Amino acid sequence: SKFVYAFEEGSQNMKDLLGGKGANLSEMMRLGLPVPNGFTITTEACIEYLDRGEQLSDEVLTQLDEKLKELEDKTNKAFSSDENLLLVSVRSGAKISMPGMMDTILNLGLNDENVEKLAAKTEDARFAYDCYRRLLQMFGSVVYNIPMPAFEEYFEAFKKEKGHVTDADVPAEDLKEIVEQYKEIYIEEAHKPFPQDPKKQLTEAIEAVFKSWNNDRARIYRDLNEIPHDIGTAVNVQEMVFGNSGDRSGTGVAFTRNPATGEHKLYGEYLLNAQGEDVVAGIRTPKAIETLNEQMPHAYEEFVNVTKKLESHYKDMQDIEFTIENEKLFILQTRNGKRTAKAAINIAVDMVREGVISKEDAVAMVDVKSIDQLLHPNFNEEALKSAELVSDKGLPASPGAATGVVVFSALDAKAKAEAGEKVILVRPETSPEDIEGMIAAEAIVTTHGGMTSHAAVVARGMGKCCVTGCSDLEINTKEKYVKYAGKTLSEGDIISVNGSTGAVYIGEIETTKAEASDVFEEFMGWAEEIARLSVRMNAETEGDIKAGYSFNAKGIGLVRTEHMFFGEERLIEMRRFILASTYEERVEALNKIKVYQTEDFEGIFNLSQDRPSIVRLLDPPLHEFLPKGGEEVKAVADQLGVTTDFLEKRISELHEFNPMLGHRGCRLAITYPELYEMQTEAIITAVLNLKEKGIETKPEIMIPLVSTTQEFVILKDVVKKKAQEIMDAKGVQVDYLIGTMIETPRACLVAGELAQHSEFFSFGTNDLAQLTYGFSRDDAGKFINEYINREILNIDPFQTLDVEGMGQLIKIAVESAKSANPAIKIGVCGELGGDPKSIHFFNDLTIDYVSCSPFRVPGAILATAQSQV
Ligand code: PEP
Ligand code: MG
Repeated sequence: SKFVYAFEEGSQNMKDLLGGKGANLSEMMRLGLPVPNGFTITTEACIEYLDRGEQLSDEVLTQLDEKLKELEDKTNKAFSSDENLLLVSVRSGAKISMPGMMDTILNLGLNDENVEKLAAKTEDARFAYDCYRRLLQMFGSVVYNIPMPAFEEYFEAFKKEKGHVTDADVPAEDLKEIVEQYKEIYIEEAHKPFPQDPKKQLTEAIEAVFKSWNNDRARIYRDLNEIPHDIGTAVNVQEMVFGNSGDRSGTGVAFTRNPATGEHKLYGEYLLNAQGEDVVAGIRTPKAIETLNEQMPHAYEEFVNVTKKLESHYKDMQDIEFTIENEKLFILQTRNGKRTAKAAINIAVDMVREGVISKEDAVAMVDVKSIDQLLHPNFNEEALKSAELVSDKGLPASPGAATGVVVFSALDAKAKAEAGEKVILVRPETSPEDIEGMIAAEAIVTTHGGMTSHAAVVARGMGKCCVTGCSDLEINTKEKYVKYAGKTLSEGDIISVNGSTGAVYIGEIETTKAEASDVFEEFMGWAEEIARLSVRMNAETEGDIKAGYSFNAKGIGLVRTEHMFFGEERLIEMRRFILASTYEERVEALNKIKVYQTEDFEGIFNLSQDRPSIVRLLDPPLHEFLPKGGEEVKAVADQLGVTTDFLEKRISELHEFNPMLGHRGCRLAITYPELYEMQTEAIITAVLNLKEKGIETKPEIMIPLVSTTQEFVILKDVVKKKAQEIMDAKGVQVDYLIGTMIETPRACLVAGELAQHSEFFSFGTNDLAQLTYGFSRDDAGKFINEYINREILNIDPFQTLDVEGMGQLIKIAVESAKSANPAIKIGVCGELGGDPKSIHFFNDLTIDYVSCSPFRVPGAILATAQSQV
């Protein structure tokens, strides 16, 4: 098969094989843009390499030779040429972009001899030796795993000793000395010399990229972003152009729209006389792209035109890397730009308004995760006014508001977060090694670097609050302190970070909830127009219900009534009910709870008005309402006027070996029908009370954990009789539905029969997953990560639907229910009801709604729309 493609041979549609970067380089070549020549070694070659125990096959090596020869012919350059020296960059490029995770090598092809040729040709020995120095550093660290500080510390010490302030101050003679020393570092650290043969450099570099597919950082990033581990990366080999060949050269990164706000304005940064990593590494502070217009108007104009062409071609905001070599512009990369949630919505809406894309495209374009980000909190404006600043020099790299204790290393961040503390990771800049610390932190603050630095890009991707480039802070990561305005912050001090403005403050600042904007409303409106499934919420408190309705939930999909039993006074009565030894005593206790429950339901139905509300009758095992033991037992016994002995005896009687499989759900009401009678009375009374006030409501009564039709039939009868009794007593009839949860495998299998008696179904995917796998939902945390790491499972079935197994149960249930009772309404109210991937499956099954916690509602609405496009 074909393992190596010249850029001319590929296209945008070949991302699987060429990776994102390679496919886009090919596409840009086809569009006639100024792209340096090169070729891509495919992801298949990577997979083959890893499968063969890290060995390139002869086939790959032969094709590589051929393409290299072609490249030499096309460019009229060669690794061995005296006049026209070929130098290349080697860069990884997976199908899905993984910023900072994989490695890049520039200036490959230089060696002791070629560096002289380059110096002669460019008449600039400083430039040539600087390129060589960079190659030695990058190659050493990426290919031979020599720690970067080994080079950097030497370089810094050297500069200091010679009194050079910036890299650019180091003259050629000194760079030659540095290069010699770097070669020594190879021997000391890697026990082998830097390879002088450019072909050897190239194959070793390609192998290093392939290997790095499996390094820890890459794996963590893939886990975090749900990227499969078996798709491999491609490698791009491209003729070098030099942004560091003087003041008429430079390199930069630009977004076609502002990645933080979405504003339709070119947004970018560049550095003159600099190469590749200089801009993203955050070591020098770059200039705003507009300034380029003053420095090199032609190159700027051409670049602006290219950016427009690329955006209209890809119909999405582009993130473009460019280099200028002696005023000639080259485009090195384009990809759909990462953006904040706010920018994502603004860009999608603007592009529809501009007539570039359809509403469906807009809906498909916004990541569901970014909706969660939009709902992030902000600092309270008033509290901010009196807050003490640490720095206001930082850039608003990724929005949000976070408070935590200062830590200065990724390791400390991880350790402290694991111990339950909220931490803010403060670094000079971040690198891929810091990824775990960044995941653990509430926010990231850097003292160097711009909006496109590693910290900024990664944090935006994670939706994590981040401020970069607080240049007025003096950080000392060894001694663990940072100096600001004459004061010192040490590890453990509390700070607050505003990712939306770039400011950092002392202490904790009160936050306020995120507000939706008009643009957000408009966008969500399109999502609702397109969606077929409706989205309800799981909620029982006033605050949550209001939040869910403000997000446009279409009703309540699950009121967990047990959540309402934990108020102090109700808990006492609930405990009396549990301890009662006669029916009369139980009813007496229940009558007290009924008063509270009626009030609760009235409140809930009043908030819902004509929108449906599903009330689930009591579900958990009774021991959950009793004290666990110890001190508390005595206090509760006193409160209830019973002896400690008696209470302890009841607690031990109620003890269950497998409470999740025990006396719970509908089984409770088979033994204590008075429990569901009380709840039914409270529901119907609430409805009647509201009706009296002119408010019509739509209650739906739901019976949990059914596994046989008989259970449901018996309890339906209990509910209906009680409801009728209450209505007859008032002489007023009201409508309500009665249905069942489907949360046992058996219920799925007998769903056709259940559906004949049931007006609605709601899948309780939490219990269904527990019973399908036989994984305790409360204990699975102990092993599920291991299962995922070892690829025994590829998803956590409590978070994402297991299509092969549980999906089949759900499918059987839906299909048999619909054929037995075409009018039945079917929903999902377990955790999977808010999960985008699972929602796609539910959408295909033609169920009617999903239900999830209020803050997941907007994301779920978007996912339901995306399922339709
Ligand atoms: C479920 O089991 O999915 C469900 C919604 O009920 P609970 O989580 O309350 O058991
Ligand atoms: Mg359940």
